[in-house]
Amino acid sequence: MSITTKYQYSLHQHNTFGMDVKAEEFITYDTVDELIQVLARIRGTGKRILHIGGGSNLLFTKDVEGVVLHSQIKFIEYGACEGGEILVRVGSGVVWDDFCAEMAKQNYYGSENLSYIPGEVGASAVQNIGAYGVEVGSIIKEVETIEVATGRPRAFSNEECAYGYRDSIFKNQLQGQYIVTAVVFRLSVVPKVHLDYGQLQELRSATVVPSAQTIREAVISIRKSKLPEPDELGSAGSFFKNPVVAKGVYEKLAQGYASVPHYVVDEEQIKIPAAWLIEQCGWKGKSHGGAAVYEKQPLILVNKDHATPTDIIELAGMIRQSVLEKFQIQIYPEVNYI
Ligand SMILES: Cc1cc2nc3c(=O)[nH]c(=O)nc-3n(C[C@H](O)[C@H](O)[C@H](O)COP(=O)(O)OP(=O)(O)OC[C@H]3O[C@@H](n4cnc5c(N)ncnc54)[C@H](O)[C@@H]3O)c2cc1C
Repeated sequence: MSITTKYQYSLHQHNTFGMDVKAEEFITYDTVDELIQVLARIRGTGKRILHIGGGSNLLFTKDVEGVVLHSQIKFIEYGACEGGEILVRVGSGVVWDDFCAEMAKQNYYGSENLSYIPGEVGASAVQNIGAYGVEVGSIIKEVETIEVATGRPRAFSNEECAYGYRDSIFKNQLQGQYIVTAVVFRLSVVPKVHLDYGQLQELRSATVVPSAQTIREAVISIRKSKLPEPDELGSAGSFFKNPVVAKGVYEKLAQGYASVPHYVVDEEQIKIPAAWLIEQCGWKGKSHGGAAVYEKQPLILVNKDHATPTDIIELAGMIRQSVLEKFQIQIYPEVNYI
């Protein structure tokens, strides 16, 4: 168990976009007690704190002043099993997909559709990660945190996390105020599958319910065919959120584009894929400096050739502007600009 501190430390290996920026101070810790010690030490210095996970949803725009923290709290603990469900408590520093792999191995259902999403368990609860019809908020029972200002522990119930589309209280009212140290998941020990989405429908069968492992493997195979591997091509996944618009806005759009894809959110709101809007504006595969729009999925901006933060910021800005001009729809980044 230890706390490590590095100064003027390169974050190149700590962000999937591959931005080569430095942290003034970079601290890792292995336990909650160590985190509390670290926070006590920083408190009063006036230094800014940024907690990162795997850096797979961050765009570092410049060197980071202050302290960058990174959790190494790594454990998976099995709790009570009741009514077909099991509670699993997981340290914030566990790699998200290692957790998914372990759950699939045990044949516990709930996380398999979220397999292969980059990042760590702590951030999953902040981001409310989602894929193939499942959001992590639907399997979270509780999020354990430490308050930055006081060093006091606080557990948030699922309701208190206020989960929404790629959203939570930790991204809004309480942004930067709490550090996630562990997440308690509620998984199903009996088959509970979500196979409505695209190619996963092929796993539906009248007689056999696929195992969590089978679904995991299908998800990984789909993701590998569509998404860039962070080790090979830098990105932060979907760069923009899918805009949710008033029904009237969608209806007007559909008059000009009969084939506009859409998902009904409720009676008044419709979600439109940002990828479609971006593709209609002709951005697919286009480059700007070292940055580019991924050819297979225009929602993803990639670091094609030594992109600088400015390349990516400018490209994102031009895309937003052209979507606004063509469709009068604002799209917002899902990625956190730092
Ligand atoms: C190729 C690729 C594919 C992707 N696919 C998906 C997808 O299908 N679905 C999806 O939802 N996302 C996807 N993402 C985005 C990303 O993987 C998720 O947002 C992920 O949860 C980020 O985790 P991270 O550990 O890398 O967090 P980081 O990017 O390091 O941080 C994200 C945010 O969480 C905060 N944070 C990190 N750790 C903690 C902590 N312990 N306590 C408090 N705050 C913390 C950070 O301050 C920051 O605000 C993809 C990314 C890539 C590169």
